[in-house]
Amino acid sequence: MIKPIIIGNWKLNGNKVFIRKFFEPLNRFLSKYHKKCTVIITPPVLYIYLIQKIFSSNNKKFFLGSQNVDNHILGPFTGEISSCMLKDIGVKYVIIGHSERRFNHKESNTIIAKKFHILKEKKLIPILCIGETQEEKINKKTKEICMEQIDVIFNICGSYAFDNSIIAYEPIWAIGSKNSAKAKEVQYISHFIRNYIKSKINHKIKNFFIQYGGSVTRKNAKKLITQKDVDGFLIGGSSLKLKEFTKIIEITNI
Ligand code: PEP
Repeated sequence: MIKPIIIGNWKLNGNKVFIRKFFEPLNRFLSKYHKKCTVIITPPVLYIYLIQKIFSSNNKKFFLGSQNVDNHILGPFTGEISSCMLKDIGVKYVIIGHSERRFNHKESNTIIAKKFHILKEKKLIPILCIGETQEEKINKKTKEICMEQIDVIFNICGSYAFDNSIIAYEPIWAIGSKNSAKAKEVQYISHFIRNYIKSKINHKIKNFFIQYGGSVTRKNAKKLITQKDVDGFLIGGSSLKLKEFTKIIEITNI
């Protein structure tokens, strides 16, 4: 059995007071779970260093990740964050291709693949979000969209791209909608993604995980996590509510 991965994506939320109130009880709670489950929180990036300072490196039971990275290493790119800087402060996991960045910041599949490549070069772990819009779902294009989003990564990063990486299957219509995809649909597409990746390579893939994201709550977590090809969750809204988030971790580990 694999160790599930639970990722909390805080997006543009949180402040210093909230951080203290959240992380101290979370860390205590994780004493019981951190060996069975990998928990990663991606706060706004400027708080990462603060959270690291609150916890000495040996008592932290969770990992911190970034919600984004630039596709350049350094130079005249005002406001960006580089993979070297993330590595420098000890960050290991980086979300890329979130639908909010694809839409709000016009990030194309090619830009996302460049980011993926840069992360792999620095031995950081990409959490690549893929998934279809409502319209694409209605037009039965889910598989096609996932294939397109995966293919561009293979084209730019080669056949070992997905070793040591995470794909978060996030149907865009389910994000922040209180309307999660049905467990059976999630299993169907996760299985498809896993097989599609296997079909494109000639080696046994290592350390590759598939997450589901889109309105995960304590109510749907059990059904979703028990699907064979779902290795964990990428959680937005519920990751900002400590009780809800810890309950999901508990359910994931029953
Ligand atoms: C997300 O933003 O990736 C997400 C899954 O959000 P939510 O859990 O709120 O749907």
